[in-house]
Parts: sequence; C-alpha cells; structure tokens
Amino acid sequence: MKRRPVADLQRSYEEQRVLREFLSNLLLLDLDELLQRFTEQVVSLFHAEVAWVRLIDKEGKIRSRAVAGNKAVIRLMPLEEVGKLVGRSRWMLDNRKPLAVRDMARDKGRPYHGTVKAVKLHGFLGAPLFTRDGKPSGVIFVMTRSPRVFTQREIDLIEQFAHGAAIAIDNARLFEEVQKRSREAREAYEAKSEFLNTLAHELRTPLNVIIGSLQLLLDGFYGKVTEKQKPGLEMLERNAYDLRNLINGVLDLARIEAGKVPVIIEEFAPKEVIDELESSYMDLYGEKGLELKFNLENSVPRLRSDKSKVKEILQNLLANAAKYTERGVVELKVRRLRGKKVDHKRTRVAFSVRDTGIGIRDEDLSHLFEPFYLAEGVDRRKYPGTGLGLSIVKRLVEILDGEIQAKSKWGKGSTFTVIFPLVLSSQH
Ligand code: ADP
Repeated sequence: MKRRPVADLQRSYEEQRVLREFLSNLLLLDLDELLQRFTEQVVSLFHAEVAWVRLIDKEGKIRSRAVAGNKAVIRLMPLEEVGKLVGRSRWMLDNRKPLAVRDMARDKGRPYHGTVKAVKLHGFLGAPLFTRDGKPSGVIFVMTRSPRVFTQREIDLIEQFAHGAAIAIDNARLFEEVQKRSREAREAYEAKSEFLNTLAHELRTPLNVIIGSLQLLLDGFYGKVTEKQKPGLEMLERNAYDLRNLINGVLDLARIEAGKVPVIIEEFAPKEVIDELESSYMDLYGEKGLELKFNLENSVPRLRSDKSKVKEILQNLLANAAKYTERGVVELKVRRLRGKKVDHKRTRVAFSVRDTGIGIRDEDLSHLFEPFYLAEGVDRRKYPGTGLGLSIVKRLVEILDGEIQAKSKWGKGSTFTVIFPLVLSSQH
C-alpha cells in the first residue's frame, strides 16, 4: 500500500476537523452568522483568496449572502450585489455538479470580466446548493489568485460542504419562516384582543345605564309598576345581567390573553385567603342551604405567589360549585404535595374544591377550559352561563405556573384541583 505523506495526512485531518466544526454549527439557526463562519472556514481550508455563498431569492435572482477572505478584494465585491443567474453559477446549477476551473481567464464560453478580472482572480472551485426537495437554492465557491488545478479530493470536499450548507440553509429558512408566521399570528392576536377590549368597553357603558335605569324602574322611582309589567321588567333585568357577565368575562379574558395582567408576588398564609373567601361566600351558601367547609392541613406553609389571583381562581371555583350544586356540601381543601420536608424550589400546594352537585359527563371534562364551552345536558334556564369562567381560571393558573384538573361523576359531584408552586419564580 502506498504511504500517504505526513503533510497529506495533516491536511486530511484539518479537512475533517473543519467539516466537523461546520456540521456542529448546523444547529446555529441564524443564517447570516452560519454562512459567515462557513465561508471563513472554507477560505482557509482551500487556501483561497475569497469564498462566497450566493443564494437564490424569491424572485429568482442570485444574491450574495456571505463572503470571506482577502479584505481588499471583498471591498470591491460588496455583499449587497444582486444579479441574474449566469456564468459559472448557472452552469453548476443547470448541471447539478461542482465546477473546477484552472484559470477563469481561459475558461471558454464563461465570462471573465468585472471585479474578478480587475483584481486578477484566476482559479475557481464551486458547487451548487439544492433544497431538500431538489430545487436550486444557491452556490458556494472559492477563487484563487493564481491559476490552480483542483484535485478530485478538493472537488469532493467542496461538494460535501455544499451538501451540509444546503441542509443548514433549508433549516434556517424554515426557522425564519416559522418565526415570521408566529410574529404575524401574535400581531393579529394582539389586534384582536385590542378590538375585543374596546368593543367590550363600548358595550359595557350603555349596559350599565340600562341596568341602573331598570332597577330604578323596578323600585318604583318612575311611578308604580303594575303586576302585569313586573315579570317583563324582571326578565329584562336578568338578561341585562347575563349580558354584563358575558361582557365582563370577554373583557377579562382579552386582558389576560394580551398579557396585560400584572403579577404581584407576595408572601401570604393560605389561611388568610380562606378567611376572606369564607366571609364573602357564607351568605351565598347559606341562602342556598348548602354547607361550605374548609379543610386546611397543618403542614401547608406560607406561599410566595400572587395572592389576589389565587383568590380569584378559588372564588370562581367556589361560585361554580355553589351554582351547580342543589344540596349537600362544598369543601375547599388545601394540602401540601411532595415529600415530608418543605423544599422551596419543588414543594407544591394543592387547593381542591369538591362539590356534591350535578356533575360533569366524561366527554365534557376535557373541553371545560375552552372559552365559551358549556357542558351538554345541563338545563340552561336553570343554570345560565357564559362558559368563560373556567377558561379565565385556566389562564390565571398558567400565569401562576400552576395546573388545574377536573374530576367528576355525572349526577354525583365534581372536584376541581389547582396546584401551585409554593414559591412562584420572580421572572414574571
Ligand atoms: P359558566 O359556569 O359561566 O357556564 P364556566 O367556564 O365556569 O362557565 O364553566 C363551564 C361549564 O362547566 C359550565 O357551563 C358547566 O356546565 C360546567 N361546570 C363548571 N363547574 C361545574 C361544577 N362545579 N359542577 C358541574 N358543572 C360545572
């Protein structure tokens, strides 16, 4: 077997190293940075004067995206240059193979002019780039100052590089596209939220006037209301309230979704929240003849989170439990999850609201947290609703890095459990 000279082996090692480095850069998703590094590596590996990557844009024009090498030469060939697909680039893409030219000045049929001629570049080695589905996407090439015969190994190497670059370009373009789409989606979403916000405000103001006037009317402020008028006015009032609830819900959801709800982290004991809930809900439960129980485990430490949001979430769950329960008990239980010891990074606290109400069918359980979702088989004259409460709860729970679960047996009752970290990270 013929022994390879040491210089040759070293070179081969260097080529492999650059190729490996390049491949490890493939995950770098910024296309310009990637191509820049790439051309720099290629120029040194081939001992060339310059290395170039030119990509085909949406209009089919070829545009320089990265160049490296001799600064004086590069200055004369600016990156912004846009051109038609002609000459050697065109040849490589049409023939789908690399091209090695010893001396461009003697390259028959392909031009030798402009800056290339002015700065006296002679040797050329390049390869075409194709997208995953085989469409031409650009070219990569090096040029040398003296005429040069490129070896088959060098031709193979530039082809290997071209292959890697093509994958990277594909990935980066895909990434750019996804980013653009998600930016557009976010903008559209923000515009929608803004619109909803304004609309809800505009609806709420006159509605409040209607509700206020109706109450005055019912209270006899404008003269005695006859027995015949009363049911009609009461129906009007009920519907006006429902409409106001709906508008308030839409407004809350829009504000949360637009990220306009600040998070205020403070330290508090779960007992404080329970006491406040107890004083606001005792009457409502008493009126309905329901028992409201609180069960706070001793082991639950103080939390660091947004107290008013925790309270708002529990208020919603307790209001639902009262609404959908005719008799029996509603219990709010607070317990600590995970291990015997309190670990401020990992300990979580669970708040469960259990009722003995109408229950929820299995097929509805997974949809409950979607906006405007109303469970099937529920008498909506008896239990009117907007289907917004739980979707607001879910968004609030997510803001607090928590999770929510619902379990239920149709006709028997339901349990909603929210789980929060004991300490909410302050990156909010
Ligand atoms: P709303 O109660 O205004 O309709 P929610 O988003 O709070 O809106 O709830 C969505 C649906 O989930 C309700 O319409 C109801 O069918 C069902 N639901 C929620 N909580 C309970 C509960 N505790 N018991 C039975 N059904 C419930």
